[in-house]
Amino acid sequence: MTEFCRERRGEIRRRLKVLVVKVGSNILTAADGGLSSRAFSRIARQIRELRENGVRVVLVSSGAIAAGRERIGLGRKPLSLAQKQAAASAGQTALMGQWEKAFRRHDMTVAQILLTPADIVDRERFTNLERTVETLLSLGILPIVNENDAVATFEIRFGDNDRLSAYVAGLVRAQCLLLLSDVAYLYTSDPRVDPSARPLPCVSRIDSRIERMAGLSRSGLGTGGMSSKVGTALWANGWGLPVGVLKGDLTRGIVRFFEGRTGTLFDTPRPLPSNRKIWIGHFSRPRGDLYLDAGAVIAIRTGRTSLLGAGVTHASGEFAAGETVSLRDSSGEEIARGIVRKGVREIAPKGEGLLVHLNDLVLSDSSLHE
Ligand code: GLU
Repeated sequence: MTEFCRERRGEIRRRLKVLVVKVGSNILTAADGGLSSRAFSRIARQIRELRENGVRVVLVSSGAIAAGRERIGLGRKPLSLAQKQAAASAGQTALMGQWEKAFRRHDMTVAQILLTPADIVDRERFTNLERTVETLLSLGILPIVNENDAVATFEIRFGDNDRLSAYVAGLVRAQCLLLLSDVAYLYTSDPRVDPSARPLPCVSRIDSRIERMAGLSRSGLGTGGMSSKVGTALWANGWGLPVGVLKGDLTRGIVRFFEGRTGTLFDTPRPLPSNRKIWIGHFSRPRGDLYLDAGAVIAIRTGRTSLLGAGVTHASGEFAAGETVSLRDSSGEEIARGIVRKGVREIAPKGEGLLVHLNDLVLSDSSLHE
């Protein structure tokens, strides 16, 4: 590992106040498919240690479907979507039971939070959730998050907990996200079939070469795999969150990761914005578009001005005041997103007044690369 990579990890560790740890199904299950209480204790011990060292942790745990299969007598057969949802409902209580037991030994109380994407996209639910998690953390309680598989429909799912954990990291404005799984590193190729495969300890930019490498590695039980981890890292790095991937069954894996002794760090030079800006720029769904004239595009790209009605040539979509919209140049390229102060019907071309305040505005990638 390069000196720079080791230093970066040390720097992230020193700044760490809130950490999100995501644990995959593969490392919570034993060879017979049941939950492995040793795996739970190993992780609980590490989280307790982090807490003693002043780091607040939010845990995102998979494993409900894996735990529920046995419970509802479905063994290892391929499951339909409805069966998976039923297995998750039955398995979630077993999963939480194991976490409760593991953390009780360390005098830690746990709380369960089950989420669907709708809870993140909606501003009011998002802020409620933020307040709940903040309250739990300030009471010294460990929030344990999973997808609410019973209600999530096929179209509206996080799909895998890698993505969900990045949303949670944005919600709590974590300084780092760690994905614990059965793979130790991102490798240059699949180490099981290619003896020349090399582990990559630091990835400072995710490009198509890195994505190709990720496609070569596989993983068994969970829905994730390395591709999903790299996809999540690419997205999260985009708004300033460093992401680590490491093996989840190491005794002091998390400490060793920050010491630069294991795992792959997907790093980003971007500073972490407020969670409100993360929500506007990356979590909310734009309801419409505002097309800007050339002068307004230049002004907005400086990152220092609000959008006034005079800079807007036309608006499209169905949005009300208080919703998110995309700000686009005349060619249709998105240059920013922001919360608009007027509904679509109140906006006249080259009209008057404030449309998007600077505090409610987040530049898109195309603007940041200029
Ligand atoms: N929510 C699923 C479960 O708890 C896991 C999804 C995933 O594999 O990431 O079983």
